[in-house]
Amino acid sequence: MRPAKVFSYRRTAQLVMLAVVVVIGVQFTLWLGPQLAGRWPQVGRPAGVEGFLPIDGMMALRHFLDTGVVDPIHPAALAIFLGICLMSVVVAKSFCSHLCPVGLFSEFLGRTGFRVTGKRLTPPKWIDIPLRSLKYLVLGFFVWAVWFSLSPRGIDAFLHSPYAKLVDVKMWLFFAHPSRLTIAVLGALVVASVFVRDFWCRYLCPYGALLGMLGRLAPFKVTRDPDVCTDCRACTNVCPARLEVHRMTRVASFECTSCQDCVMACPVDGCLAVRSPFARSSKRWLRPIVATGLALGMYLAVLGLFRLTGHWSTAIPAAEYHRRLPEVTSPLYTHVGGVAMAEGSGAPTSRAAVPHASPPGESSSHPLQ
Ligand code: SF4
Ligand code: SF4
Ligand code: SF4
Repeated sequence: MRPAKVFSYRRTAQLVMLAVVVVIGVQFTLWLGPQLAGRWPQVGRPAGVEGFLPIDGMMALRHFLDTGVVDPIHPAALAIFLGICLMSVVVAKSFCSHLCPVGLFSEFLGRTGFRVTGKRLTPPKWIDIPLRSLKYLVLGFFVWAVWFSLSPRGIDAFLHSPYAKLVDVKMWLFFAHPSRLTIAVLGALVVASVFVRDFWCRYLCPYGALLGMLGRLAPFKVTRDPDVCTDCRACTNVCPARLEVHRMTRVASFECTSCQDCVMACPVDGCLAVRSPFARSSKRWLRPIVATGLALGMYLAVLGLFRLTGHWSTAIPAAEYHRRLPEVTSPLYTHVGGVAMAEGSGAPTSRAAVPHASPPGESSSHPLQ
């Protein structure tokens, strides 16, 4: 397998995903724009937009584990969250290197910066290590908020609150009409990513922190065969995660994204490759296209399962969206620290003990039960 092909498989997957994200963004805009002005849209709401709601996906996972019920408000958020976790727990952290559009943009910024300046800033270890811990702190906050600060009833109430129903729209408005602070923060992240490779991913992204931890469990990881390694260090020189690959037998770092850039760089056939723990010899290795296909297959299998079982499109009727969207900027569609406004009451739902999540006048039974 030629190294260039390894790169092209991964890049092809990234570009296809980018195209899908662009199509989803355009369709969501075409669906939302007329409705904000009180008109009916010509297109339907793309469920895939819920891929941008990972916190919702995490809450829906807890809801599912608590109740055995798939959240009907944003079922695709749970499907995509689980798909991303599964692919990353099979081929270590592979979502980051194969599908994440933010990761692709970050790679682009880093490569562009290097081409233009010929330099790359590498923070010394005494700065790098504490900075890397930031993403775990952010992840820890979300885990606390989702798994420990809310009771099962609180989770159910939040997922069915007016805010949660329009959380995708709130996110769209956040980026479509950014505040000066948002622009400043995003601008600073872009500039930082030009000079420091993968600045956001390495230091701040809580999703990457979660996937890195799951990746430690992965049976398929980049593995080096010391018997044929020439210690040329080409692998270490190209690693975007700055790992000393030439010293490792099995790359088990939280930072490794299974990008296979090291595999591309290795001049010894079969020395470095994605392998199961039972195949360390240079004779036995997972062909790069198989490693990529396995990761993508896991992701698509989860999405397919959700679609086949009818857990993909939201249960919110088109008429309800049409009624709610013109008033999306009202205080009803807000939350403070995980406490969302209750339907029709003008007051926040209880953090720990909400009787049930359904709006007054609606059935309390689950729409998909
Ligand atoms: S670290 Fe976060 S932003 Fe970066 S590629 Fe992974 S999931 Fe995407
Ligand atoms: S060790 Fe290899 S697969 Fe892992 S991040 Fe570094 S270059 Fe990519
Ligand atoms: S590039 Fe291959 S041969 Fe060179 S040090 Fe790395 S694993 Fe060994």
